[in-house]
Parts: sequence; C-alpha cells; structure tokens
Amino acid sequence: MKIAGEITAYCRFCNKHTKQSVRPYTKKQTSGLSIGTRRHNRAISGYVGSVEPKIHPKKLGKKQKVMLKCASCGKVTDRVIGMRTKKKIEIKR
Ligand SMILES: [Zn+2]
Repeated sequence: MKIAGEITAYCRFCNKHTKQSVRPYTKKQTSGLSIGTRRHNRAISGYVGSVEPKIHPKKLGKKQKVMLKCASCGKVTDRVIGMRTKKKIEIKR
C-alpha cells in the first residue's frame, strides 16, 4: 500500500480541509493507571481468584495507521488506511 507524503484531509481542530504531512504511526505512551491495567495487575498479583487466560480469535493482519500533522494548527491525529492487511504502508516522499 502506498500513500503520498502530503495529502489534503479534514482537520477536526480547524474544522476544514487542510494540507497535512504523513508520517509512520507511533504509539502514544500510556500512564498505566487505567482501570483495565489496574484490574489486570491485581488479578495477576493474586488478589483475585484463579485467572484463566482468555481465548481470543486469531485475526488476519493489522489495521495500518498513519499520523497526520496539520500544516496550519500543527495538531497530530491518526488515521486508519484501508482494512486489515498483512502489507505495510509505504510513504512516498
Ligand atoms: Zn488543523
């Protein structure tokens, strides 16, 4: 999958279409204080009864994301490109 290095897309902060630069997706750092993380830590430290592993269905591929940076306001948003796939995104410069 190929995507151009600069695209025109909707910016929800400017409330209109602006020119946005495209770069690879980087995950945000989480504080580790969300309720799901705290509950999981309590469960594996032994405060809850036996913890059975959940069986998740296997998914084919990942949803490919890119980061978009608005040229006028400078805010960064992410966007999913296409559906689940095993191919990686190439950003054309
Ligand atoms: Zn903007």
